[in-house]
Amino acid sequence: MHLGNYLGAVKNWVRLQHEFDTIVSIVDYHAITIAYEPEQLRQRRHDLAVTLLAAGIDPDVAALCVQSQVPEHTELAWILNTITPLGELERQTQFKEKSRQQESVAAGILNYPVLQAADILLYRADKVPVGEDQVQHLELSRVVARKWNALFGTPTGRRLEDGSEEREQFFPEPQPVLTPTPRVMGLDGKSKMSKSMGNTIGLLESPESIWAKLRPAVTDPKRIKKTDPGTPEVCNIYHLHKAFSTPATVEHVAVQCRTAGWGCIDCKKVLAESMETELVPIRRRAAELAAAPRRVDDALAAGAARCRALAHETMLAVRDRMGF
Ligand code: AMP
Repeated sequence: MHLGNYLGAVKNWVRLQHEFDTIVSIVDYHAITIAYEPEQLRQRRHDLAVTLLAAGIDPDVAALCVQSQVPEHTELAWILNTITPLGELERQTQFKEKSRQQESVAAGILNYPVLQAADILLYRADKVPVGEDQVQHLELSRVVARKWNALFGTPTGRRLEDGSEEREQFFPEPQPVLTPTPRVMGLDGKSKMSKSMGNTIGLLESPESIWAKLRPAVTDPKRIKKTDPGTPEVCNIYHLHKAFSTPATVEHVAVQCRTAGWGCIDCKKVLAESMETELVPIRRRAAELAAAPRRVDDALAAGAARCRALAHETMLAVRDRMGF
């Protein structure tokens, strides 16, 4: 998990778990749409659970579960595949990007957002906290929900304005919930922070490693010498300050930048300190959890049990309405 995932999505999950019935899913069936080693998959599933718990997901509050432990995810995905327009899948930006990078494209890359729709609709979720890059996929989930409801929702007996029969809205149309940082830029300052671009800072990276990446990170391109006044708004480091530093520090950083009071390295040092304040407790909790794998397994088992019960109920209704 990198800081883009954390700031764009996971921070919201931690906050929202206390306001909503929350399900956090580790989507290992999505993970196999690219080449992988089975043993590595096992390890990465566990590591991600550790990271999520360390970031603040409380397994006594939110259900933390592994997608493959709830078979209904793939059952519903198949069903939704049968009503998803192919054109909608082909125009998804992530499909276009991912398929461009490969010689032979597996159908799983195309159908990826249908499995996502199943992940959401299985729990009849109405809100999905994601980063901006997932908003298009969520739109597809709404299209699919609408389509399924229109085809298989039980008729209510009322007529709509256009004369057609009203049907129950069995699946709510899920809405995105964004954080104040829905698109975190990478250290190159040019593209979204993402593993495939190699421009990330990992949530659990050591302070030394973070500094080694921050030090050469791109800032305001017009600020060449330390004495050049800068424009904070165009600087990615300033945006990271807004995510990690206190409002007073953010204000101070902006003034120092505009007046060339600080050089970019001074600014980055303060950012590194602000990051440490937030990341030290996360790193500490991760180390504790890594030494107690039983606690992680118990959290996942409890989450899977909660999710299976909900998934079972949804699929009983879905199968019934679809004639199975
Ligand atoms: P992924 O692992 O790419 O599927 O992302 C997991 C979550 O993190 C999704 O909700 C993404 O929208 C979010 N996310 C990924 N990269 C970024 C980024 N650079 N900025 C903000 N959110 C992001």
